[in-house]
Amino acid sequence: MIYYDKVSKKYPDSSVALDNVSFGVEPKEFITIVGPSGAGKTTLMKMLIAEEWPSEGAVFFESANIHRLSKKEMIKLRRRIGTVFQDYRLIPNKTIYENIAFAMEASGRTDREVASDVPHVLELVDLGHKIWNFPKELSGGERQRVAIARAIVTQPDIIIADEPTGNLDPTNTYEIIRILRKINELGTTVLLTTHNKGVVDTIGGRIITMDKGKVIKDDKNGKYIL
Ligand code: ADP
Repeated sequence: MIYYDKVSKKYPDSSVALDNVSFGVEPKEFITIVGPSGAGKTTLMKMLIAEEWPSEGAVFFESANIHRLSKKEMIKLRRRIGTVFQDYRLIPNKTIYENIAFAMEASGRTDREVASDVPHVLELVDLGHKIWNFPKELSGGERQRVAIARAIVTQPDIIIADEPTGNLDPTNTYEIIRILRKINELGTTVLLTTHNKGVVDTIGGRIITMDKGKVIKDDKNGKYIL
């Protein structure tokens, strides 16, 4: 589904974010990418949505080179990838309903689809009762669940979750991981990054360990112990 082919990324100040990274992602996998801050995890994720360009190598999505797609093809690809970030990225002056509706409208959904799908997706993350609240009235864990709802409402093939638990306590971290696992079981590929080894211990599954821009371990045989 996705293939990183000998991808390196050097920034103009000569810092090396990725150093000859190769690996593939199969449909419906749940992959955790772990490594210390600065290891290159975010850069790796940004490649998939063409927010970063490789200095060498290529990234393929279903055999198309992502960085050679036309603008129109890129828009199509972006609609197949949902994103979740550490800082939630909700729009502060919009309600939870409006935040999710906004993402749906941006991907061409009708008012009718919005009206039926927003309550449904919020139920999925146990936040149906917060639909008319504003982001500032929610806890960090709840905000992240809204961000996940927004990412999945358009039914993407892949979810990229870049340090989604970075600002959360252990209870909320566990809850976010549980929701991501549930989404994965429903058929969505999940790529999760974290610098927190404790998080990794609770997830198991395929773990890719990065350090200084390199993949130093790709362990396909972990077990889910949640
Ligand atoms: P991680 O997500 O694992 O913390 P990043 O992918 O954010 O790692 O960063 C990897 C390396 O690339 C770090 O050394 C970082 O300082 C560097 N880096 C990231 N973005 C830029 C940038 N825009 N310009 C220069 N260096 C960058």
